[in-house]
Amino acid sequence: MRTILKKLLLNLENHILNSIKTPCYICYEELLENNLKLLDYVQKKSGAKIILALKGFAMWSTFPLVSKYLHGCTASGLYEARLAHEEFKKEVHTYSLAFKDEEIDEIAKISNHIVFNSPNQLLKYAQRVKNINPNISISLRINPEHSVSPEEIYNPCGIYSRLGTTIKNFDEAVLEHIDGLNFHALCEQGADKLEEVLIVFEENFAKYFKNLKYINFGGGHHITKEGYDVDKLIKLIKKFKIKYDVEVYLEPGEAVGWQTGVLVSSVLDIVDNQMKIAILDTSAEAHMPDTLAMPYRAEVDGASVANDKKYTYRLTGNTCLAGDIMGNYSFDEALKIGDKVIFLDQIHYTFVKSTTFNGIKLPSLAIINKENKLKIIKNFGYKEYKNRLS
Ligand SMILES: *Cc1c(COP(=O)(O)O)cnc(C)c1O
Repeated sequence: MRTILKKLLLNLENHILNSIKTPCYICYEELLENNLKLLDYVQKKSGAKIILALKGFAMWSTFPLVSKYLHGCTASGLYEARLAHEEFKKEVHTYSLAFKDEEIDEIAKISNHIVFNSPNQLLKYAQRVKNINPNISISLRINPEHSVSPEEIYNPCGIYSRLGTTIKNFDEAVLEHIDGLNFHALCEQGADKLEEVLIVFEENFAKYFKNLKYINFGGGHHITKEGYDVDKLIKLIKKFKIKYDVEVYLEPGEAVGWQTGVLVSSVLDIVDNQMKIAILDTSAEAHMPDTLAMPYRAEVDGASVANDKKYTYRLTGNTCLAGDIMGNYSFDEALKIGDKVIFLDQIHYTFVKSTTFNGIKLPSLAIINKENKLKIIKNFGYKEYKNRLS
């Protein structure tokens, strides 16, 4: 995937890179479709249905393409459910940690599946959502209590987790209301970790599967990452479906947007304080927040780790946060003011989280279509900053 992205970038450089107003996220339709085709292969081979987790990737201008392959979206509340309903127009699965009286009716109207986090919430709202939408499927998110996530901040099954119902808190009164059960226990993980979770999940909960129509295996399956064991995933799903006679859903976010595009920025200034520091017109804090939260180091096109190539710089953001730093990178040639710096793999969990912190401009959203044409989908400006303040 990475090689393909680099090749496409070269095409872009020759043609249009210099005309792009930065900062700008660019999603490559071809790479997105490659991911979708692989996910569709999993669907066809395993019989599972795959839906998009909007939390990780919500570039709705691509939904006409995404909806050709995936069955719908998973939403985490009213706004994501509305976006799925209005723009994706297939199945809407809405989960919330806690639904509110003033939103539950509208959610019920536009959702095909509603997933509650606790028996308390489920028993409170089950009848109400059925009255509004008799066809709605009701599910409970359970917590399999098997922790495999690498980082605590992304661990849905960590200590004191509020995400999902543990076997201890399971209330059999929900059984007459539910058609399915959900779990979401993985984060950027392989099929071997899913296998581990399934063992614990089945051990504790299989006794409740009898009248269920589906089990949702959540997200965090790194299906489109090089080296992911797709055949193992397919085997696990098929085995599960046969054993329990249920539909299986997967709801990845990251795997949909994985390695599908870049964030292009420009060098605004270079200062020197015991090392060269390049100031870019983007921000780690505002535009690529997972690089600070996870944390991870974003790859930069043409760059290597510090001191590997001839010219080393600290790449930094244009906000006043001292820690707004992408990291130290080295280049074959000295950076100049106006040069473009391109961060790779900046589509999933980036623009869905971006902010106007410190009055910084939101990056534009663009697509390179399959004819290699750049389309700027959206530009943002002062009004986005002002409108969310008062
Ligand atoms: C975040 C989330 C997903 C998607 O996870 P990825 O790691 O992006 O695949 C799926 N389901 C639920 C309930 C989530 O919270």
